Amino acid sequence: MERKKLFDLYEWDPGICFRHPDRGVVDTTVIRTLRPRLGPAEDVRACRQCVVAMEAERRARARELGVEYEPGQAGTPLDRH
Ligand SMILES: [Zn+2]
Repeated sequence: MERKKLFDLYEWDPGICFRHPDRGVVDTTVIRTLRPRLGPAEDVRACRQCVVAMEAERRARARELGVEYEPGQAGTPLDRH
């Protein structure tokens, strides 16, 4: 899948990537929201590079599991549907 099409599946906002905090504020998208029992919900954000990597991992995992790969859900584990 083209990167542009992949990126269009997500909403991008400036933020801190969970894997690259040292890069500071970059283009990020929310891939998961953590809801701790105590305290406020916390968004987990990933940069474009990480989203591409996560989508590639997801696609490989989908092939392993023999399930359909759907782009645009980088933060949703395939085997926990
Ligand atoms: Zn990143």
